[in-house]
Amino acid sequence: MFDVKMRLVSMLGLLTVIVVFGLVLDYLHVLRRPMRLGLWLAVLGILFGFFLTLSAVLPDNTVFGPVITEGQTSQKIVALTFDDGPYPPYTGQLLDVLKEYDVPATFFVIGKNAEKHPELIRRIVAEGHQLGNHTYSHIDLLKAEPAEVSREVEKAGRVIAAITGEAPQIVRPPHGFRDPVVLDVMKERGLKVVEWSVASRDWTNPGVSVIVERTVSRVKSGSVILLHDGDGVAASASRAQTVEATRHIIRELKAQGYRFVTVNEILTKQEEP
Ligand SMILES: [Zn+2]
Repeated sequence: MFDVKMRLVSMLGLLTVIVVFGLVLDYLHVLRRPMRLGLWLAVLGILFGFFLTLSAVLPDNTVFGPVITEGQTSQKIVALTFDDGPYPPYTGQLLDVLKEYDVPATFFVIGKNAEKHPELIRRIVAEGHQLGNHTYSHIDLLKAEPAEVSREVEKAGRVIAAITGEAPQIVRPPHGFRDPVVLDVMKERGLKVVEWSVASRDWTNPGVSVIVERTVSRVKSGSVILLHDGDGVAASASRAQTVEATRHIIRELKAQGYRFVTVNEILTKQEEP
């Protein structure tokens, strides 16, 4: 939608100037007939600012450029994705659950955490799961300089490649936040941006049954489910609820006839007409 490679913060800055300009016109009684144009300009500026901010933070829109939110398919397939790991003991426990039910998943790992726990990265790959890039230090990319955005994804890719021999082809920006420049950097590096369509806010540890209910009730064919095996770079919160909830989510969705796939398989469903 936007060809201009502008940062969100610059767009909001520009809109602030327009809003102030509109208010000043109105205050000075300029352009008040046939309607209060200055006031309307200010109102539109504020609304557009909200729209741009929501476009940067909400996962399911392509206002700033293409992102994958879910697969376009009538097949009953879903992708489990886990962010912020690897993080012992939870990543290992989760891998045990996935193995028990023979379910593949996709792990968007933080470079720093991968460096600390390469054995978990090797296990993720050895057990047939897919890896994704979740930046090196989990910073808010909306606030980072373009060069830093580049460094963050590049470094995470290098860390993962040093462990597995291959850098991931998919990326999930921390919190899903992106603007035109962030998306441009990802595109330049040949990385596909993957958001999600189902989130349970499991990172707030709301209780196993809440995570399961919020997830299962929203799932449909092609859903990409967001869960967390890690806790940013701080790595202090428990992910025991997510591990237990994953077991129930798998059981319930399997009972409903869903099959679990990696994000790669969702991507093929995205590209089909
Ligand atoms: Zn994250």
